[in-house]
Amino acid sequence: MSLDDIKTRIAKACKDAGRPEEAVSLIAVSKVQPNERVAAVLADGHRTFGENRVQEAAGKWPEFRETFQDIDLHLIGPLQTNKARQAFELFQSIHSVDRPKLAKTIARLAQEEGHCPRLFIQVNTGEEAQKAGIAPKETDAFVAECRAMDLPLEGLMSIPPVNEEPSLHFALLAKIAERNGLTGLSMGMSSDFESAIALGATHVRVGSAIFGARAYG
Ligand SMILES: *Cc1c(COP(=O)(O)O)cnc(C)c1O
Repeated sequence: MSLDDIKTRIAKACKDAGRPEEAVSLIAVSKVQPNERVAAVLADGHRTFGENRVQEAAGKWPEFRETFQDIDLHLIGPLQTNKARQAFELFQSIHSVDRPKLAKTIARLAQEEGHCPRLFIQVNTGEEAQKAGIAPKETDAFVAECRAMDLPLEGLMSIPPVNEEPSLHFALLAKIAERNGLTGLSMGMSSDFESAIALGATHVRVGSAIFGARAYG
């Protein structure tokens, strides 16, 4: 697979779903990938990337940004409140807003810094104990709480359980977003981004299908 193949598949999935191609942003998930693979994707003209750890992003992206000022970086992994300020400096979007304490910290930083990344609320659609995210039945109240703090909510994000049919989770996320008047849907990874697009994904997070398998050390 390559960046071009993935873009072609996204375009086809959009066409099949009767949606314009521009409706879906491809977030190239570069976590753990060697810098030369990331540099190759940048050289191909791609600018939208995702990382799941603040620390790792801090060691990698400031240098790339010296060459490519228009990089659009998305935090797709859990955020501790004590790293939130650093996340503000590094990321244009945060997909893992999942609890009131973090929302409050982000609201305070937005006041102090005079800007705020675009935000997605992470929903634990599978209600898995080990997974981050707000429970589906608590999401409406949390959306309202974030709005009351004037947070710039773009939409909802979810990571379906590994052994379940992802489209059920995509459909649930889309339903919760719709009843809350949210248009952004961050859903779909290497193995299931086409079905996510069929169900309304606006942001797909694709890692290994672009960069190759991750070598965890
Ligand atoms: C790693 C990761 C991805 C990308 O996974 P692939 O299967 O490699 O496409 C997407 N979303 C999140 C939250 C991730 O942590």
